[in-house]
Amino acid sequence: MERQGNIRIASENMMPIIKKWLYSEKDIFLREIVANASDAITKLKKLEALGEVKKAGDCKITITTDAKAKTLTVEDNGIGMSQDEVERYITQIAFSGAADFVEKYEKTNGDGIIGHFGLGFYSAYMVSENIEIFTKSYRDGEKGVHWVSDGNSTYKIGDAEIKTRGTKIVMHLAPEEKEFTDEKVIKKLLSKYCSFMPYPIYLNPKEGDKEVKPVNTPEPLYLKQPADCTEEEYKNFYRDTFRDFNPPLFWIHLNMEYPFRLKGILYFPKIKKNVELEPGQVKLYCDQVFVANNIKEVIPEFLMLLNGVIDCPDIPLNVSRSFLQNDAKVQKISRYITKKVADKLTELFNNDREKYEKCWQDLSTFVKYGCLKDDDFFDKVKDIIIYRNIDGKYQPITRYFGASITEEEAKNGKEPQAVYYASDENKQAQYIAMFREAGLDAIICDEYIDPHFISYLEYQNPTSVRFLRIDADVDAALKAEGEGGEDKELESLFTECLKNKKVHVKTAKLKNANVPAIVNVPEFLRRMTEMNSFYRMGDDMHDVTLIVNTANKAVNALKTAEEKSRQTAVEQIYYLALMSYKPLEPEELQSFTANTSVLLEKYLQK
Ligand code: ADP
Repeated sequence: MERQGNIRIASENMMPIIKKWLYSEKDIFLREIVANASDAITKLKKLEALGEVKKAGDCKITITTDAKAKTLTVEDNGIGMSQDEVERYITQIAFSGAADFVEKYEKTNGDGIIGHFGLGFYSAYMVSENIEIFTKSYRDGEKGVHWVSDGNSTYKIGDAEIKTRGTKIVMHLAPEEKEFTDEKVIKKLLSKYCSFMPYPIYLNPKEGDKEVKPVNTPEPLYLKQPADCTEEEYKNFYRDTFRDFNPPLFWIHLNMEYPFRLKGILYFPKIKKNVELEPGQVKLYCDQVFVANNIKEVIPEFLMLLNGVIDCPDIPLNVSRSFLQNDAKVQKISRYITKKVADKLTELFNNDREKYEKCWQDLSTFVKYGCLKDDDFFDKVKDIIIYRNIDGKYQPITRYFGASITEEEAKNGKEPQAVYYASDENKQAQYIAMFREAGLDAIICDEYIDPHFISYLEYQNPTSVRFLRIDADVDAALKAEGEGGEDKELESLFTECLKNKKVHVKTAKLKNANVPAIVNVPEFLRRMTEMNSFYRMGDDMHDVTLIVNTANKAVNALKTAEEKSRQTAVEQIYYLALMSYKPLEPEELQSFTANTSVLLEKYLQK
């Protein structure tokens, strides 16, 4: 016997509102329906554990698509429902739950509930004209139930001939939603939302086929104890979850029960050098149900470069994002993840320096980015940030810092410890060679993120370090000790010969006597120019200083040379110095070539 009832909630108005908000994410309906099926099985298993159900048997979820009938069906052999329960849970709770959701959602101004959790059964009406439920309770003697409604104001309910325990939800899809009868579409959605749901899910299983594999992984690796997982398993899990065939560098297995439950694995992917950072994918799950990707309210933003899965059932998901941002528990979770990452890196640094150095190229971008984004993280990892020096040795950057200078010292013109760096080993090879010969150290800072990062280090340690590019302010570093070595005569000679070029001349006695001159651009000015060109303003011309080496024989020979040869030689010395700083402009190159020819001619005539 079938009877008709009225749905008490004024649900006519609800669906248009929900559709308006969630239309672009309407596929969450599948997660909601499958999650209900999964919950129904969990409840049954609990009753079995309590001895209230004798034998639950193999529990599973079966999904079938039928293009002809335009239906999508989700079936479980879980706890099932009696007629009373359908009335209560579906007609009342599910509908009023949806009404609650709408109300909450309106309050958040569309600011959003993460992953739109909490809409439940009713969400299936986003894609269905009609939904039928066939269900039979686990309790002995209960009759099967059939329920049907278009989701508006009325529903029908009655007995049904059903042999086995469980629930079958038949969604009669709206004409414009027939894509959901496409097995491929459903498979993709299941892999997005249901990959780790705890019971096997079968999609369109063929009758009698015993070999079929579930589409999901009911026991994802992250749930296992870290000690029980092998390297192979971690790599396979990575490949299968992120469809990335490059093996990850290394990973961090999070496993926490108290004060909140959190499990997951974060993977460090290989980062390509000198390219814009690509965002990774950190998938958030709640009890094995996918919630959303890259939730910045929960996962520290800088970790978004990683790939990972995080399952945290304790995050309140049906609240607004802005609430989450200020929620103390969520902040704790976020800090815990940051700390774990820092700990793991430190552990590797301390226990396996060789591996650490090998991975560093890939790790460093991520670590530096993390520091820029999060001072707490910087505090935790600052001593394990390493830089390679010009001799190829890695050292923690903090080793290069000097003792803090006092205010008094600063007033007297003392500057924080200078750390020289090369940003391009090829272009700055000449400078690097001079540094090596002079027994000076410099570090290699050639990553995309380094200019930002060294500014950050200076900002964090204003009294103990300043960074100078290897071609900046080098006279101080390369000057021979003792007397100043300045030479007024040479200075005016060079200034006169180079008066048509944009260059200042200084003289100094350098440690290396073989180099006639070097070009020097003050660090500060160069950074300004770089910033300007970054913002596309101003021209590229630096304020270049030519430092003429008074220890060089050729330079000194100029004093007694003829006027004409002098001009050519000075220009040549200037171009040579310029060349080890930057590529010559076409006219510079032309005149350099012409000069070389003249010089060779003279040299060979002798
Ligand atoms: P929620 O799952 O958040 O409680 P829903 O609207 O999705 O809200 O479902 C309402 C209720 O209907 C559930 O709490 C459950 O009691 C019942 N229910 C839904 N689907 C099933 C199912 N497949 N098997 C048994 N009970 C179900």
